[in-house]
Amino acid sequence: MGFVIGLVTSIAGDLKFLVESLRFSHNYNTEECCFKCRATKRVSGVSAYEFLRHAAWLLAQRLHIHYMESDGSSSALAQVPGFHLDMVALDLMHTLHLGVLSIAIGSGFFELLELNYFGGPSSGPWAARFSAQLAKAWDIFQSFLKRNKLRTSQPAFSVARMTLSAKSDPPVWKGKASDNALVCRFLLEQWLIVARRTGDAHHQTIATTLWGYIRIIDIAKEPEMFLSDTRAADLEEARCAALTAHAILAHGAVATGSQLWRTLPKHHFLDHICRPDWPDHTGCKMNPGHGWCFSDEDFIGRLTRISGGRMRIDSLINKYLLRLHLLLYRGSFSAPPL
Ligand SMILES: [Zn+2]
Repeated sequence: MGFVIGLVTSIAGDLKFLVESLRFSHNYNTEECCFKCRATKRVSGVSAYEFLRHAAWLLAQRLHIHYMESDGSSSALAQVPGFHLDMVALDLMHTLHLGVLSIAIGSGFFELLELNYFGGPSSGPWAARFSAQLAKAWDIFQSFLKRNKLRTSQPAFSVARMTLSAKSDPPVWKGKASDNALVCRFLLEQWLIVARRTGDAHHQTIATTLWGYIRIIDIAKEPEMFLSDTRAADLEEARCAALTAHAILAHGAVATGSQLWRTLPKHHFLDHICRPDWPDHTGCKMNPGHGWCFSDEDFIGRLTRISGGRMRIDSLINKYLLRLHLLLYRGSFSAPPL
């Protein structure tokens, strides 16, 4: 008789889940905003928004023993035998796709619309002008999908999708994780055209931050669990491009009183994710795409498709295990899809 041993090696989820289940008193709502280090939202001191290679927060790690004596003492999850603070993982999908990209896409679109890049009426109320341009942008996006043989569930572009009630609002793009990655890739293509055409430093900085995010996503999608030295150097280059270019855009926006390119604790968490050799216990550089929630949520979607949305849970498990058995013993050609 065989048996299965379950081991918890990592705990991941959205930030709200982590904060509530592990009782982190230092979180995105507090001045000291990180449960992994003592970085703060203040610009002075140990700033969470210092994205340089040798940022001060790298020397300010929070230790497991201190956590267990404070917040951890009231968390049931932290009492599981073998639990260690280093097991708590920041998730790339919730941090980048559903956080940082929402800011980048919203601001990236806003600046293109201000340039009247997609073409449309140059006078009239801002909402009508933006809507007319976004309709044209949607047509160009369809051509982009067709040319690259891509499919998406992305709904039509709109001002509402940028969560803009007034033009002075901070633009935040609303979308699903996979759709946001695709829209960011489309936006990068447009900003590369603009940057080459104008040679403007600000336009080049926007193209650089978008390029960095897309490069991080491409590295995360590679199948290797651990990064080679070459890939680790590629990830560092992408991290540096994405976040330092973002910091330049954010400083420029603050100087002009604009709400574009806002910096959030999620930018700091992305910084953590893209430094897989910190803290340096093992020398291993884990691919940030390994074990991320994207694959778990995709798995739930596949279960829904297998069940047709109306199957009892025990029947669904049996059906899934049968398909898994067929896949393992007959191969992917004759087994039904998982
Ligand atoms: Zn931190």
